[in-house]
Amino acid sequence: MANNSSSRPTLNRRQVAQALNIPPEMAARNGIPSRMAAEEVAAIDANPPAWLAQSRANSTGKRPVWVELRCYLCDFHEVARPKKWWPEFSFVICDFHGNSELPDAAPGWRRSEYDGVGSRFRGIVDSQDP
Ligand SMILES: [Zn+2]
Repeated sequence: MANNSSSRPTLNRRQVAQALNIPPEMAARNGIPSRMAAEEVAAIDANPPAWLAQSRANSTGKRPVWVELRCYLCDFHEVARPKKWWPEFSFVICDFHGNSELPDAAPGWRRSEYDGVGSRFRGIVDSQDP
């Protein structure tokens, strides 16, 4: 590692994984270091090694590797790995907001809540009883 590289923009492994649209475990398994220069990441993205090309070929049409969570109320956002148990949320809001800040559910619709979405969100699902 060159000592004079500290001024170049670098990404940590999670950010590299986001940029390449792969899980962090895959990045680690394939030798992505804990920090990488942004230009090296761009080079990998433009000219993927075999393991990345393979992963991209396999992931077509599957569930997304990363999703953007955006607070309906304050617009705070983060990029997170979607969990299998996440339904389609009607709203995503930060933990500390009250539900009274949200628009009411439509008449006859039921509102359910999911804690622990991303690092600081709650997911709200409005659904019609069958
Ligand atoms: Zn918020």
